[in-house]
Amino acid sequence: MSSIAVLNAGSSSIKFAVFQSAAEPLLLLKGQIEGIGATPRAKLSDAKGNVVLQEELPREGFDHAAATQTMMRIGARWLDGKDIVAAGHRVVHGGAEYSAPLLLTDQIIDRLAAFVPLAPLHQPHNLAVIRAIRSAYPQLPQTACFDTAFHRSQPPIAQTFAIPRKFSDDGLRRYGFHGISYEYVAGRLRAVAPAVAEGRVVIAHLGNGASLCAVRNGRSVASTMGFTAADGLMMGTRCGSIDPGVLVHLMDQYGFGARELEDFIYRRSGLLGVSGISSDMRTLRASRDPAAKEAIALFIYRIVREIGSMAAALGGLDALVFTAGIGENDAATRAEVAAGCGWLGLTLDDPANQRGETLISAPQSRVGAFVIPTNEELEIAKRTAEIIRGAPAT
Ligand code: ADP
Repeated sequence: MSSIAVLNAGSSSIKFAVFQSAAEPLLLLKGQIEGIGATPRAKLSDAKGNVVLQEELPREGFDHAAATQTMMRIGARWLDGKDIVAAGHRVVHGGAEYSAPLLLTDQIIDRLAAFVPLAPLHQPHNLAVIRAIRSAYPQLPQTACFDTAFHRSQPPIAQTFAIPRKFSDDGLRRYGFHGISYEYVAGRLRAVAPAVAEGRVVIAHLGNGASLCAVRNGRSVASTMGFTAADGLMMGTRCGSIDPGVLVHLMDQYGFGARELEDFIYRRSGLLGVSGISSDMRTLRASRDPAAKEAIALFIYRIVREIGSMAAALGGLDALVFTAGIGENDAATRAEVAAGCGWLGLTLDDPANQRGETLISAPQSRVGAFVIPTNEELEIAKRTAEIIRGAPAT
């Protein structure tokens, strides 16, 4: 039996999943190596989520390449007999040119390295894992699915900043992210409500990272994330859209340099920064501290404001879809966002929302509301299976 490995490399972790290769891939194993650069450890779960292995790993020289080797060793031990026939990667940046998943070649890997300055926190780690696998298993086909690709269908005006043209020509433009998730959710919406999926839809990916995507007939027309994944909505620890003058002020008056600004934007802001308590929605919902309530209120306010902006880009709204950790699980967030969208014609069916059903809008609601769990690993496995079915043998 053949299987497909799906890899998602972050700055200090590599998440992986193994699927049985089929038109509708079936999850076999899920795991992660975290703490790379600090105290590395591996964890592996079966398809039902039962933990089957936990292992402390040696610290010395343990980088992304070593983590990749460890992952392949552990994976092989647990997969006995199930050959891995391809590895599919989540790659954060495909630049302006890559608008679909693809089979990686040495030339494409080099081209992707040119996008490192556009995503310095993610792209180098994605490439380190791809290269480690290429050197250990040169014959293994590897594919890349890009977080930016889904948004390449946006009209040029939606991708452009109002800055001097030279900088736009250098690549300073809105790329958009969370595209693998949006593609998956848009596909699921087509399956559960085909007529709605042809219309004007806003998908709200609300997790630690959070963004909105305006989708018309399954194609992205606008999104809240821009040049980086820091733009748009308030997130767990990211500030989202901010007056650029604030950043200049922080440099002038607080002596911030580039790394301090990065820390401020990506790690000290958002739900964590405003509440001073946690970046985790569950913790904030459980807290009686007024600062927790203020943080949640701002999170909701920003979503509602940006849904208005997405609806304007679409020329109206037929459906709102909630996905990711908060969108899938937090009925209160869905109810509060929907209350702010009453003016667009959205009314929830409260019991259906509390139960987290797929369709949560009331029968009389002009705008449909849905909860559709995302599954980025499955999307990558599907695309990888498609590519290797059509790919020339390496
Ligand atoms: P990531 O962007 O890291 O993939 P997730 O999509 O897993 O993040 O979302 C994480 C967020 O989802 C956290 O804020 C977490 O508190 C929230 N979350 C998960 N389960 C629930 C729940 N049952 N109720 C409320 N929030 C939840």
